[in-house]
Amino acid sequence: MYDYLIVGAGIYGSVFAHELTKRGKKCLVIDKRNHIGGNMYTGRVHGINVHKYGPHIFHTNDEKIWNYINKFTAFNQFVYNPVANYEGRLYNLPFNMHTFYQLWGIKDPNLVLDKIKEQKGNGNNIISNLEEQAISMVGSDIYEVLIKGYTEKQWGKKCSELPKSIIKRLPVRLTFNNNYFNDKFQGMPTNGYTEIFINLLKGIEVRLATDYFSDSDYFNCLARKIVYTGPIDRFFDYKYGKLEYRSLEFETNVLNINNYQGIYVMNYTSSEIPYTRVIEHKHFDNHGDENVTVVTKEYPKTGTINTEPYYPVNDEKNNKIFLQYKKESEMLHNVIMGGRLGEYKYYDMHQVIASALNMISKESL
Ligand code: FAD
Repeated sequence: MYDYLIVGAGIYGSVFAHELTKRGKKCLVIDKRNHIGGNMYTGRVHGINVHKYGPHIFHTNDEKIWNYINKFTAFNQFVYNPVANYEGRLYNLPFNMHTFYQLWGIKDPNLVLDKIKEQKGNGNNIISNLEEQAISMVGSDIYEVLIKGYTEKQWGKKCSELPKSIIKRLPVRLTFNNNYFNDKFQGMPTNGYTEIFINLLKGIEVRLATDYFSDSDYFNCLARKIVYTGPIDRFFDYKYGKLEYRSLEFETNVLNINNYQGIYVMNYTSSEIPYTRVIEHKHFDNHGDENVTVVTKEYPKTGTINTEPYYPVNDEKNNKIFLQYKKESEMLHNVIMGGRLGEYKYYDMHQVIASALNMISKESL
């Protein structure tokens, strides 16, 4: 008999398994995929660390989490400076003095503020959707070139039909600073993310290509407690309705050239181009064969029963359904729901680790 059955070898499940094993508990980890690491998984292609489920940049302000993750792998001094491509012209992100110079040829921060103010409108109108919200924050040029098409592809809806609540803040930086994140700590694991999971799960029994729902009665009998990190609505057989997720499709090609686009991530912000990003994996950590590069196009998709659920859609309707599932899960004293899908939260990696460590601290061991 195991103390814990952990469904999902992503970061939530793996941190849980690691910490509980350290405290003398017997854990079994299962995952329906044929690899560990969940969405953080990186595979090696011609020596290049390929982010199979989209580009992952580790960043956090929390020193404890940064020190924690650094115990399992070494990080490089990566700083995320992505570039946007709109109709063939390139712009730096996030919106900063480089971007404004590229848009308008303006070098004076005060003139940038005047320009944005002039385009924002007078602020007297009632804001009812994302389009109006974005224009009221950054003006029409930035909205048209860098926000509109990208957001519409991401959500599969017109910005004028999306709720304004999606955009709460649109920071405008009046300095020449392309660092996307404001966090104190940022980096890329030098050997890829999978090494973190190899180290977290050392000495722990892991069964891959094993779906909990293929025989949940059997799995439930194996352990005293279950930690479930899959979609919460699936766990309860959708009894309160299906939760919505956004999904993605990845088209990956190996090219026989050294360098395709000169940067790890290029965002495509025009709605004419169906993908949102092009990822060239080798530029994250400069590993791999010089004569080859691996390039992935990322296409946003509406989530269906047959697609991978990547992003929870935390609108009012879905959050209401989620609360019903959450309430029910809290009544099950032998089940812990965790992670991005179990908690139905748009968590980044550091937040998932924090959530797992917090839950572990509440377990009576
Ligand atoms: P997951 O990684 O989804 O792991 C859950 C695991 O459970 C999966 O392996 C799944 O196969 C398994 N599972 C599900 N159901 C079953 C079942 N029935 N039986 C057995 N196994 C099951 N975060 C950042 O901090 N920075 C970034 O730059 C960043 N970029 C991202 C880009 C993309 C495209 C995506 C999708 C996410 C990104 N994230 C990023 C978020 C990050 O991936 C997540 O926060 C984190 O990986 C979630 O970990 P998790 O353990 O909760 O879930």
